[in-house]
Amino acid sequence: VWEQILTKMKETLAESAFKWFKSVKPISLTATGLVLSAQNDLVKDWITSHYLTIIEDAVGAVLGSKRKVDFLVLPSVQPEPEPEPAKPEKDADSTQDTKEAKEAAGHSSRKKEDPNQGTLFQEQPPAPVDNGDMHIVAPGDRSSLNPKYTFETFVTGSSNRFAHAAAMAVAESPGKVYNPFFMYGGVGLGKTHLMHAIGNRVLQNHPEMRVLYVSSEQFTNEIIRAIQEGKAELFRQKYRTIDVLMVDDIQFLSGKQSTQEEFFNTFNALHVADKQIILSSDRPPREVQKLEDRLRSRFEGGLITDIQAPDLETRIAILKNKALLDHVDVPNDVLMFIANRIDSNIRELEGALTRVVAYASLINKPVTTDVVAEALKDVFPNSHKKEVTLEVIQEIVATYFKIRIEDLHSKKRTRSIAFPRQIAMYLCRELTDTSLPQIGNFFGGRDHTTVLHAYDKIAKEREENAKLHKIIKDLIESIQKM
Ligand code: ADP
Ligand code: MG
Repeated sequence: VWEQILTKMKETLAESAFKWFKSVKPISLTATGLVLSAQNDLVKDWITSHYLTIIEDAVGAVLGSKRKVDFLVLPSVQPEPEPEPAKPEKDADSTQDTKEAKEAAGHSSRKKEDPNQGTLFQEQPPAPVDNGDMHIVAPGDRSSLNPKYTFETFVTGSSNRFAHAAAMAVAESPGKVYNPFFMYGGVGLGKTHLMHAIGNRVLQNHPEMRVLYVSSEQFTNEIIRAIQEGKAELFRQKYRTIDVLMVDDIQFLSGKQSTQEEFFNTFNALHVADKQIILSSDRPPREVQKLEDRLRSRFEGGLITDIQAPDLETRIAILKNKALLDHVDVPNDVLMFIANRIDSNIRELEGALTRVVAYASLINKPVTTDVVAEALKDVFPNSHKKEVTLEVIQEIVATYFKIRIEDLHSKKRTRSIAFPRQIAMYLCRELTDTSLPQIGNFFGGRDHTTVLHAYDKIAKEREENAKLHKIIKDLIESIQKM
């Protein structure tokens, strides 16, 4: 019947327009409606907005009565070449075409130079639009995966090392090691980044695999719509074809009964078939409120790993990495300044750096801590809450070395006191923007050269002495927490 409809449409459509229907397949035909597949949202939207009446007329003509025509986004099955419904003589491998069309979204290199086809989507589609629908990532199409979120751009530290290692293992053997793989942690700590990294790596290793990344909202919306439109079965079919399913922020499924029900079924179908399932949440499964017990126990059946807020060193490493990727040169003390003030959200951390760099170029000044303080004052009004004071530093240092605060201010030069004092001076210079004379003055009216000497000495020893390095790191952490 579809063949007949196509033939009918050919009467009204221009050759070039007909090209749009090459990958369209009939999915279901009922007394009232016809469901067709489209390889992606763009094809679906384009056809719906331009050719819907033509299709409906052709359907009416062939079947004798009108049907409501709907589209379901379903990437073409690979790797078998699809039968060409209309133009077998053109012997183009439509599998290839699909790939190219999708790749063309990112690159303008084209193999065919037929000028008639130049303006067609098949050759040069507009940039994908996120319309809130989910996207199955077909082979060669990474549009729903952010290409910047890779393992290469992910900085590891003690806070995320385990999650990172597990994610790598999952990416290397999807469906084989940890299934499901569940990551949880606070906002902006890299969960979504790791998910995309897994997806990107899987597609790199197995271009034929189907990877679907979807937010919980998208997943919910899709289910609700499928149910409302009586297409639950189609929804299920669509999901059964996935090799790697990633559902982000599943805490938002909380209390959504029918979504959870459908998700449970999807989960089981994929799990039984050894397809990889990756989930994230801002808290562990057992703490997600209003989550069905059976779903929770499914989640707990795989590997659960957490991501913690990064420590100071990791935050600095992340900023350094970002500066490098953005090709901006930012001095270490500036990175330190930012990393000191934003300690629990990597998105904010990176955002601060971006703003500082933008601000500096706007006022045409080099990026210095002064500029940073100015730039961040507007953006993070409570950044001063995190301001480290000399008082806090001396208190922490004195407590750690079990000496009295007065000793730090005294003239005593015994090592048990002079050494902590030098460390305190070092930290004051490193963690605050107080000037050398001010620091000297604070510690018993000492000269600024004494402070500088102390700073250099500790900085050098810190590099050479792992134990001292660790002590300073711990001190910084404690000071940050005050
Ligand atoms: P979440 O999903 O946990 O809320 P995201 O994955 O969206 O967090 O991360 C927020 C931002 O921080 C993203 O731009 C991401 O690239 C970046 N980011 C998070 N963790 C790291 C990391 N370890 N190394 C580099 N960038 C990171
Ligand atoms: Mg996220």
